[in-house]
Amino acid sequence: MNPAYREYLDQLRLSFPQPVSDPIHDAWFGRCVMQALEQVDALKNETPVLGTPSTKPEFVPSECHIDDEPISLEQTTRQLVGHLNGMFVWGHPRAQINVIPPPTIPSLIGGLLPSIYNPNLASDESSFRIALAEREVTAMMADLLQFDPDQSGGVFTFGGTGTLLYAGRIGLEKALPGCSRSGVRERAVIVCSDCAHYANRTVAGWLGIGDENVIEVPSTPDNEIRTCLLESMLRDVLQRGDKVAMIVATLGTTDAFGLDDLAAIREIRDRLVDEFSLDYVPHLHADAVIGWAWSVFNDYDLDANPLGFRHRTVRSLAGTKRRIRDLHLADSIGIDFHKTGFTPYVSSMILVREKADLGLIARNPAAMPYLFQSGEYHPGMYTLETSRSGFGPMAALANLLLFGKNGLRALLGHLVTMAESLAEHLEGHAATTVLNSENFGPVTLFRVYPDGIDTFEVPKQERTNPAMRNELLRVNEYNRRIFHEIQSEALQGRGVVISLTDCYRETDYGEPIVALKSYIMSPFSDEEYVAAVLESIWQARERVGNDS
Ligand SMILES: *Cc1c(COP(=O)(O)O)cnc(C)c1O
Repeated sequence: MNPAYREYLDQLRLSFPQPVSDPIHDAWFGRCVMQALEQVDALKNETPVLGTPSTKPEFVPSECHIDDEPISLEQTTRQLVGHLNGMFVWGHPRAQINVIPPPTIPSLIGGLLPSIYNPNLASDESSFRIALAEREVTAMMADLLQFDPDQSGGVFTFGGTGTLLYAGRIGLEKALPGCSRSGVRERAVIVCSDCAHYANRTVAGWLGIGDENVIEVPSTPDNEIRTCLLESMLRDVLQRGDKVAMIVATLGTTDAFGLDDLAAIREIRDRLVDEFSLDYVPHLHADAVIGWAWSVFNDYDLDANPLGFRHRTVRSLAGTKRRIRDLHLADSIGIDFHKTGFTPYVSSMILVREKADLGLIARNPAAMPYLFQSGEYHPGMYTLETSRSGFGPMAALANLLLFGKNGLRALLGHLVTMAESLAEHLEGHAATTVLNSENFGPVTLFRVYPDGIDTFEVPKQERTNPAMRNELLRVNEYNRRIFHEIQSEALQGRGVVISLTDCYRETDYGEPIVALKSYIMSPFSDEEYVAAVLESIWQARERVGNDS
């Protein structure tokens, strides 16, 4: 007589991939995946939303329990698929919401394989050639971004925020050697622009720098750091005797695709090191989690233009290339494959020009007695994470192989072409104005105005003239109403889902400028969907009227 537990065990064994070749079981495994895909497919419709654009389900914590009895694999799948109900389909050309890409099939397979076989990328002793994938992607990115592949290094981590955390950690160790042991006892600052990502503050808090010590340098109307102010603010910090944990250049700001002038920032940093005879070189990090992908155009001949992009696209690509080609001047670079590299979340890496910088943050080997007994590649010596997934590197590798430079050029070039087309239309109409027309990415920030407003003069006046405060706030409100109109139509399957940013930037007199935002990331985008955005705006204007 078998003990009762054996029955459970025998049943559950079928829920695991078989350890020894079993093609029939594998076919069933594949079938289970197909079933999940079919169930999700049944949720698809014409709109960019899976299932019904649902009212939020009620969540009652006290009703959540683990059942006594197992359920079948099929029932489990069905419950999981239910959780996708109401999700946006990022790959839908009518979804233009944010910098979230639809992942490619190879990147999904790249993520699935390590999910099945479960390598731990702390060291190659337990992950073998999956660890090699991390090293290969690092070397490919070093080559693309013009770092010396033998001198440079890199690791995958948990998102763009993680890349900033690593850079800040390295920079702190340069400014305050030994601070990982002794603690941060002197004031240290992070310097970035006021368009930089809020993750800089997160990181300052987590590193013990303190988010009050993030110095935000004002930016130009084109959303790039004012380098003359950067210089004077850095000078103040150094004169006070405070330490600079890192200077962050943002290449591709989140809302507007502003690009900081890295060459100028590097020159200022180097000059101040001499002038103040610093005994350390403040770490210069490029937060290029969005912009990195445009480096495929570094060696693209824009004059010959072999891929045949239209003239306005070529101009846009040239505008980006002019800044992106300087990335190699940074000490480290943050890269999100899950933004402009079309992989699933999470796939991010920090690339360092000198791999010795990673040595600065290594732990003492005596602290990790059970690790690193064999093998030769041990990123776990310096990574924050102990268990490290193979998902990020394998997904990234998949897309770098799949796309090649020309594939990524074609994808990005198309997204930019669509954004340019939208901007062109918006600029051509009296009731709309593009706010970031000197930024050259896939994102368009714009404002819509009621009838009778001179959109040649007013946008600039709003930004600079305090007497326009009431007018600005009124138009802010008007844009919120337009947004809600567009949104509710889009969720009914009409029009396009775009987003709203409460503070695209502040006016010179300190008020937030509300903007509508179209972020085109779908490879399925095309002119007809650009027209659909415009159509949605005109209809929303009709419904909102002029009374606000
Ligand atoms: C998205 C973003 C981040 C944060 O990256 P996550 O991957 O979301 O953690 C940091 N910096 C910039 C400029 C970003 O756009």
